[in-house]
Amino acid sequence: MSIERAAERLARAEHVLVVTGAGISAESGIPTFRGEGGLWRGLHAQDLATPEAFRRNPRLVWDWYRWRRGVCNEAEPNPGHQALAELERRAPDFLLLTQNVDGLHPRAGSQRLAELHGCIDQARCTICGAITHLDELQDGDDGLPSCSCGGLARPHILWFGEAYWEGTLDVGYAFAARADLVLVVGTSGMVWAPAAVADQARRAGAFMVDVNPNPSELSDAADLWLRGPSGVVLPELIRRAWS
Ligand code: NAD
Repeated sequence: MSIERAAERLARAEHVLVVTGAGISAESGIPTFRGEGGLWRGLHAQDLATPEAFRRNPRLVWDWYRWRRGVCNEAEPNPGHQALAELERRAPDFLLLTQNVDGLHPRAGSQRLAELHGCIDQARCTICGAITHLDELQDGDDGLPSCSCGGLARPHILWFGEAYWEGTLDVGYAFAARADLVLVVGTSGMVWAPAAVADQARRAGAFMVDVNPNPSELSDAADLWLRGPSGVVLPELIRRAWS
């Protein structure tokens, strides 16, 4: 059975790389962009999470992020997040790369973690570049978060069409070179860079396991596809690996 094989490989692995996407948080009630509930006021994320959208209408983009932040902060980590925190405690060498901005991995206890696309609780000044927790920012006269330098702040999130912040992916590629198992969870694989890090690990010899209820861009390349929701599959995988 696939999950048994994956569990055997996981129990033997020395260097475990995990890449997660929006799907792992779906069972916490946070919609994925491309799935059901991905629309807000009839708009697609791809129409809001861009520098052009922010230049055109910063208020609309902030309204969306304030709504999303509320959804994320009210959500709780699910058994999938918790299983990965447990895996981190058991694996000799471990790295979790997430595309998610919802903060649920750290809240579940993950520490060896890189949030590649930023964090919903942070803003960055469009003038001086300072990164600040949103709770520490005042609104300007226009009602939008304003930096202490007076500049308009934007969500500290990597938007569609933007380049990764310098050095962000280096730690992932460095780990990919030594990974012996790569676990890809809840990502369509359509966001190029994290999928490329996972694929790099596979090319360098890591055993690749994809966890997703639906086929993804990575399922075919994976050595095993564990078909199902991550909140069910991941706890079962960990249980079997260390039973
Ligand atoms: P995506 O929306 O493109 O794909 C989500 C994937 O999750 C799909 O392949 C889907 O089949 C799978 N999925 C759905 N339910 C699942 C479940 N219960 N268990 C496991 N998998 C499940 O998301 P993406 O590939 O992560 O990329 C979209 C971009 O959107 C990313 O850049 C990410 O930063 C951002 N995003 C983040 C959040 C968040 O922080 N929670 C939410 C939405 C989008």
